[in-house]
Amino acid sequence: MHKSLICDRCKETINNSTYLVSSNGVTEHRHLLCLLRYFSMLKRSFWAASLVGTILILLNQGDFIFAGDFYKGLVWKVPLTYLVPFCVATWGAVTNSKSTYA
Ligand SMILES: [Zn+2]
Repeated sequence: MHKSLICDRCKETINNSTYLVSSNGVTEHRHLLCLLRYFSMLKRSFWAASLVGTILILLNQGDFIFAGDFYKGLVWKVPLTYLVPFCVATWGAVTNSKSTYA
C-alpha cells in the first residue's frame, strides 16, 4: 500500500501520474495540468523556442526576408516555426519530469 500524493499546486490528490518540479532545492509533485501551468518550465520553453525558431526562420525564410519579399505564407510559417520548438521543449520537460510513482 502506498500513500497518496497531493499536488503541491492545487492541493488535490494525485491519482495517476505525478510530475516532479524542482526549484530552489525543493521538489514538488504536480498533476499534468498543473505542470503545464508551471511558469519556469514555460519560460524555458519560450526561450528555447525563441532561439531555435529564429535560427530556423533565418535558415528557411532568410533569403526572402532579406530580399524584402514578405510573401503571404510567412503569416503562418513564422508563428509555426516558433510554435513547433516550443511544443517540443515543453514535451521534453513534461516527459522528463514524469515520475514512476503510481
Ligand atoms: Zn494539481
